Amino acid sequence: MSAVAGTAVVVQELDGDQRAALDACVVAALVLSSSEGEAQGRMRLLMECHGRYVRSFGVLEQAPSYEVFAHRLRGSRVAELLPGRPKESVLGKVWLLDDEGMPSSALHRLAVEASEHGHQAPGIGADIRHLHSLLRAVGMLPVNSGLSRISGETVQHAIFRALRSAGFEAYTRGREAMVRTPVLTRRALSRSTALVELSAYIGISPTRQFGGLWAACPMCRWTMRATFRPNGVVDVECEDERHSRLGAQYRAEPTAAEGWDLVPCGELRAVPEMLPVEGYVALPYALWLWVTLPGLLEVELRDRLVALGAEVRLWPFGDAYDLHVTRSGRSRAWRVDVKTWADPYGLAEKLREDPEGPGELCFVVPEHLRGYLPLLRRVVRGSEARVLTDGDLVAEVKRA
Ligand SMILES: [Zn+2]
Repeated sequence: MSAVAGTAVVVQELDGDQRAALDACVVAALVLSSSEGEAQGRMRLLMECHGRYVRSFGVLEQAPSYEVFAHRLRGSRVAELLPGRPKESVLGKVWLLDDEGMPSSALHRLAVEASEHGHQAPGIGADIRHLHSLLRAVGMLPVNSGLSRISGETVQHAIFRALRSAGFEAYTRGREAMVRTPVLTRRALSRSTALVELSAYIGISPTRQFGGLWAACPMCRWTMRATFRPNGVVDVECEDERHSRLGAQYRAEPTAAEGWDLVPCGELRAVPEMLPVEGYVALPYALWLWVTLPGLLEVELRDRLVALGAEVRLWPFGDAYDLHVTRSGRSRAWRVDVKTWADPYGLAEKLREDPEGPGELCFVVPEHLRGYLPLLRRVVRGSEARVLTDGDLVAEVKRA
């Protein structure tokens, strides 16, 4: 999946039948790539998926039989699986299962962002059910409402609102903890009242453990995904494609002494510690995706600016923007809104809704999205807002 756009955007371009087909494929792929649950229940779920898949083809197009459906889920590009085969979609570049039936990083993301039945699936389904109960608890999901796709905005809004009800300081501390420590010991969690009340953390997901152990991504510190190969070796990699590409990918091999060896497969040679599942709790997938990942650059930027001697407030005034930066003795202030993907629509939206007007607002994108600056600058043209990279902002604050 492209690091630039969320799958939610891609899925919006599909028609209703294509979405229903995608949903059925995603849940079926999750069942096929997991060993969780009893055989009968798994077969029933697969048949249900195939039924929904067939219906999505309507009367004009011939839907494949169950055997063909299950076979094609391996190694086919997602677009090829959908009725009408959407052209020029990002879905023409991603697959759900590889040729050996191993899940892709797009699969879990699609289950969370693009599936109405993802909660039924083994593995990631538990994460999705936890999120639903969390949203219900904070009043964002009516008790008997149908479970539907969850948007990143809904989740952020719900979580941040719930944290804010405990006061502004607890909000900042809780949100920062969810960014810096997406995995905690149960003991550390019990010390944070706001986080305990939110009950955002759950036991380590079975999809992210091997032999009672887990390992943290060196970049985001969240539990890496564990995929069991038929030969007993386990692929351990960050669910974030960029982190995985940058080296957060390992191979866990069982040793003769009934332990495990973690071997680096990417450029990162540092090997994270393998820790017991017992005693630890982690954020579920959606909270890692929508709270931890976008927050990483925000807290890192804060740390870098503070090191320069700037005063920085994280997430000031509710959630109007991300960082308020000043330098003592200077009148200049920066209002910074961090964007972790190049989203021109989101940027335009933000400009419209900002109660204080765009004013001196700086939109900051990570250095690796520098190529998108011209596009994003066209969006803010005519306003006083600016778009720059994190490196540019640090250099500018340093010079001021
Ligand atoms: Zn990571």
